Amino acid sequence: MPKGTIGVTTNNIFPVIKKFLYSDHEIFLRELVSNAVDATQKLKTLAGAGEFKGSTEDLKVNISVDKEAGTLTVSDSGIGMTAEEIDKYINQIAFSGAEEFLEKYKDTANAIIGHFGLGFYSAFMVAKKVEIRTLSWQEGAKAVSWTCDGSPEFEMGDCCKAERGTDIILTLDEEEKEFLEPARIEGLLRKYCRFLPVPIIFGKEQEWKDGKYVDTDKDKVINDIEPLWARMPADLKDEDYLKFYHAIEPGQDDPLFWIHLNVDYPFTLTGILYFPKIKNNLDIRKDRIQLYCNQVYVTDSVEGVVPDWLMLLQGVIDSPDIPLNVSRSYLQSDRAVKKISTYITKKVAARLEEIAKNQPEEFEKKWNDIKIFIEYGMLSDEKFCESGLKFALLESTDGKYFKIEDYRKLIEGEQTDKDGNLICLYATDKEAQYAYVKAATDKGYDVLLMNGELDVPFVGMLEQKNEKMRFVRVDSDVLDNLIRKQEDNKPQFTPEQAELVQSLFKSQIPPVEKAEFMVSLAAMSPDDKPLVITQAEYMRRMKDMARFQPGMSFYGEMPDMYGMVLNTKHPLIQKIVDLAEKSLEAELKPVNEEISATHNVINALRDLDKDGKEMPEDKKKELEDKRKELEDLRQKKEGIITAYGAGESRVHQLIDIALLSNNMLKGEGLDRFLKRSIGLLK
Ligand code: ADP
Repeated sequence: MPKGTIGVTTNNIFPVIKKFLYSDHEIFLRELVSNAVDATQKLKTLAGAGEFKGSTEDLKVNISVDKEAGTLTVSDSGIGMTAEEIDKYINQIAFSGAEEFLEKYKDTANAIIGHFGLGFYSAFMVAKKVEIRTLSWQEGAKAVSWTCDGSPEFEMGDCCKAERGTDIILTLDEEEKEFLEPARIEGLLRKYCRFLPVPIIFGKEQEWKDGKYVDTDKDKVINDIEPLWARMPADLKDEDYLKFYHAIEPGQDDPLFWIHLNVDYPFTLTGILYFPKIKNNLDIRKDRIQLYCNQVYVTDSVEGVVPDWLMLLQGVIDSPDIPLNVSRSYLQSDRAVKKISTYITKKVAARLEEIAKNQPEEFEKKWNDIKIFIEYGMLSDEKFCESGLKFALLESTDGKYFKIEDYRKLIEGEQTDKDGNLICLYATDKEAQYAYVKAATDKGYDVLLMNGELDVPFVGMLEQKNEKMRFVRVDSDVLDNLIRKQEDNKPQFTPEQAELVQSLFKSQIPPVEKAEFMVSLAAMSPDDKPLVITQAEYMRRMKDMARFQPGMSFYGEMPDMYGMVLNTKHPLIQKIVDLAEKSLEAELKPVNEEISATHNVINALRDLDKDGKEMPEDKKKELEDKRKELEDLRQKKEGIITAYGAGESRVHQLIDIALLSNNMLKGEGLDRFLKRSIGLLK
């Protein structure tokens, strides 16, 4: 038999293959089966061109293992090779210039494969000997055999092979015996070859006979030769898409929408992307899109090819234009890949826009399920955001949906404040914030529901895009302050009354875990509630954001700050003030006088300090004493008010009702409230 040396100028290509591709040994099967499929496809092309006259009906690829012989064979009925072709394609081609290249890319074996299409030679990752037996389609061709044991030397000669096509016979390495296990091979074939365009056969279908499974004479075909994405969208029905979805994503609910991608210029790409129905956040996984190259499975890690936010989708993408087997960082910087990513984004946006326009009811119905994708997309992708602003929906607390522009028109009349800002009110929990929502809707305002995972950052983004649009949670202040229609009302109380009623309420607020309260006054309407608890929008948003962004944990740790706003126009509050003033007059008068006298002394002393002159030591001391005195007097005053407040059950009752309606009254406080309430019924 003639011997030769493979056209590699380095002696150590095989160790390199083995070593660098260690982790990915299984891909040899993908490479060999792909070559076999290519060989059959080429025959079809030749038939199409009229060069091959035989039948192309029965083209197939067969994989078999022989445990005893320790071999795995991939056979195809494709074009086969002549001796010259083996010489040209197998002996010469793969490694021209390999030495230099290997030197340069020693560390990135994947790049080697990507660059050279190492396809056939990947067999040496798992085999100690590889044999090719092949008969070309050409008339009068002779069957050829080629054998190589992993050294750069090979043997070539005639052989007897009656049928057209190629057998690749691998004698597996000792440590690669796993590839003799039928279950392992079938698993790999199902992974890589499930949608190849020619039947891939592995063994026989089985049937149950006489108490055990036995082979039938029907070939077991692993693949679906015409997967859905390769067909024309116009020929397909919804059922087809659903069926395909369930085949690739077993055990999932029906998807919400799908998009059939089909483009052939400036790159070739087909695929189907599904918007899955996410039951809970644990469902969110990013490796659900499978990448194919001419129906050969490549990977389910599509980072870079698909924009990050779309990785929440599921489905398949097939493109011969995505460089395979290259490193991720290379992929991300590749221009063609960038174009693909932009194209997919555009396509998804267009499809969503189309559904929103043509099937608005359908879109509304599914909005709550797709909103997480769309908000995520709009927050992370500027281009998509532009389109999203056209179809994203806002949901109001009474269950209606509005496009952003329509919503603006709806509330413009009622909810524009005196500075021309459009104030959008929202609730994050319809039940918990019921009283606030009711108060707002009673006033003729609309309240949105913002209870989604990403609503807080989303609202922030909308504010950035729309200069005069503000979002405030309906309980973040009293309504008159949230949507200020005119300048502040005149104060209802004298400064003394205001101070009194504020300290009175402040002194009676029971401790609430991780919460602090600031008492303030507002002249609402006499019909509004006497006391309202609010939580400032800014702080609450910061705290919400802190949950997403580790760097903001500072906000997360701060106690929650609440406002306790007294309605100075409410008769009950007015009554409480009147009563307190009268009851405490005698007791507070002397203290107040003393306070104001001490104040005067302090002011006089401070004047000494005025023109930057140093204050004499004795005066400094006096000032300090007076300040202490003032502090003591204030405490004394507070003590008097607190003692009075302790017996003023109206104050307790009002505070407790406000806490209760915010779900903040618990345990002992709640018990006290209930007992007091029953007492009031007597
Ligand atoms: P690539 O497939 O990237 O071209 P390979 O090293 O896998 O690189 O194969 C080199 C060439 O050998 C192929 O282009 C093809 O011409 C030929 N070849 C490989 N396998 C077969 C096969 N089963 N039948 C016919 N020709 C084959």
